[in-house]
Amino acid sequence: MKRALITGVTGQDGSYLAELLLARGYEVHGVTRDADEVVTEGVTAHELDLATDSSIAELIASVEPNEIYNLAALSSVYQSWQNPTLTARLNGAVVAEMLAAVKLLHDRGDVDIRFVQASSAEIFGAPTVAPQNEETVVRPTSPYGAAKAYAHGLVGAYRTAGVAASSVILYNHESPRRPETFVTRKITAAAARISKGLQETLELGNLDAQRDWGWAPDYANALFLAAQHSEADDFVVATGVSHSVRDFVEAAFVRAGVADWRERVQVADSLLRSGDAPVQMGDASKARRVLGWSPTVDFDEIVAAMVDHDLALLS
Ligand code: GDP
Repeated sequence: MKRALITGVTGQDGSYLAELLLARGYEVHGVTRDADEVVTEGVTAHELDLATDSSIAELIASVEPNEIYNLAALSSVYQSWQNPTLTARLNGAVVAEMLAAVKLLHDRGDVDIRFVQASSAEIFGAPTVAPQNEETVVRPTSPYGAAKAYAHGLVGAYRTAGVAASSVILYNHESPRRPETFVTRKITAAAARISKGLQETLELGNLDAQRDWGWAPDYANALFLAAQHSEADDFVVATGVSHSVRDFVEAAFVRAGVADWRERVQVADSLLRSGDAPVQMGDASKARRVLGWSPTVDFDEIVAAMVDHDLALLS
């Protein structure tokens, strides 16, 4: 039986990945911050606050997983401006601790671990080329992106040093499990509440930002495929199609049965971000070619699934 260790197992991606691995017969271990977090049934939980605790190396050595998926992170670009030091720790230094632990076990000949890093399109900052691929210049514009860029660089360095470490550069990926700190869920939850007369208006930031939104379970599958591939590498995972935040609002409000979205949405300057990429669009042709990965759910289907879920929660 294969053994996997997932950090960030209680998040959107961690929960989808845990389900995928359990369905494939894996023994799944997960790192959780505290006992209050809800862990997918069947996962062996290990309580460890990565923000303050450096015992991840001991955990890796005791679990001896075949695969490690590093999904733990401060996940919000916006919050990374409020807490750059914590971002550096969680999104950066922890990855160094983990890779060093994996290399030690590798060098000792104890166990060869395949390491998969959940990297991010934010490492490209506000890219001047579209679509972006694995060769695009890494030039982050937020503390979140800077820490993810450091981790991305580390993965490459440890790979050069013999560790089977892959960096999967994920573009935005959504689902009903997204918290409302992300714009998609904020919009679908509000559209549902507005359609039921429970809320009047919605405040948003930059409506012109264009994002390449995919379906989170597809992205969990990409992480899995990267771990299975014989050669560790960097892979962009994206749909290749971008939509504006405005497009998302319009589609969500139509789906929720609210005709007049323009009268319901207000732009708040406080929600605008420094360094916000005007356009993100990923070229996943390498992941398609090498991993056989492709997205299965398109923009309209993502919006519909999220709105329908939020409507169902209210009825
Ligand atoms: P991120 O790209 O991982 O930070 O995901 P988000 O869903 O937080 O943000 C996606 C885009 O939506 C960014 O360009 C934000 O600037 C934009 N955006 C516009 N209004 C909002 C808002 O009210 N909340 C959030 N989170 N993002 C917003």
